[in-house]
Amino acid sequence: MPQLDIIKLKAAYNDQPVLENVTLSVEKGDIVSLIGPSGSGKSTLLRVLMGLLLPKEGQVVLENSVVDYTNKNALRQLRESIAIVFQQYNLFQNMTVLENVMITPTKVKGWPKKQVEHDARRLLERVGLSHRINAYPDQLSGGQQQRVAIARALALKPTILLLDEVTAALDPEMVNEVLDTIRELASEGITLFIVSHEMSFVREVSSKVVFMADGQVVETGSPQQVFDAPTHERTRQFVSKIL
Ligand code: ADP
Ligand code: MG
Repeated sequence: MPQLDIIKLKAAYNDQPVLENVTLSVEKGDIVSLIGPSGSGKSTLLRVLMGLLLPKEGQVVLENSVVDYTNKNALRQLRESIAIVFQQYNLFQNMTVLENVMITPTKVKGWPKKQVEHDARRLLERVGLSHRINAYPDQLSGGQQQRVAIARALALKPTILLLDEVTAALDPEMVNEVLDTIRELASEGITLFIVSHEMSFVREVSSKVVFMADGQVVETGSPQQVFDAPTHERTRQFVSKIL
């Protein structure tokens, strides 16, 4: 049984169709990378999964139950299971690193502060920031801030984490420390959706690579299949340009 089943999903901005017939099945622990030209619908797919844009047609089945994106309670539950990190990390500037990670679990969820703090410290250790827990965001590098954003997303204990170009805004020398963090998460069994232009990284960590173009899934396969032996001309063209 797949953890997440995306079935014939359609989405549009106003009346402009953006996703067409997107079907994708994800197992627990899968590292799914979405690749494809700019404007192909990768971010939109992640937004629909999070309920930030309502699907027009199709279904998302999470842990065996159909997600009702029109239901507030269902959305709240969904966002406990699925978290997203964007290119722009948007940390709270007036809060320390530790406070940034603790704020939603304590203030929104009402979880006990002691346990949240314990978990937050462990998460910050996982992303290599134990020594900066009392720093403010503007005292950190971009790479460190992005790692705080990842820890903050993990603080709600999601089972699926969506990472939308999280290294795209970083200076080159900071990309690797964030990729290292993602590599480590990948080895720990959480399901990841990765949108990234770091193709050698995508090739190394992914269990599935999904090539999208014009709002459709053109081809899905292992990194070897998609990069080395693409079956569709469109994939072949894309891959030949990026490798
Ligand atoms: P990708 O992440 O693959 O670059 P997007 O999902 O951002 O692609 O965009 C897919 C299409 O949807 C593009 O044609 C883009 O112009 C359009 N689009 C994205 N965001 C919006 C929006 N907020 N309003 C209208 N159109 C949008
Ligand atoms: Mg995008």
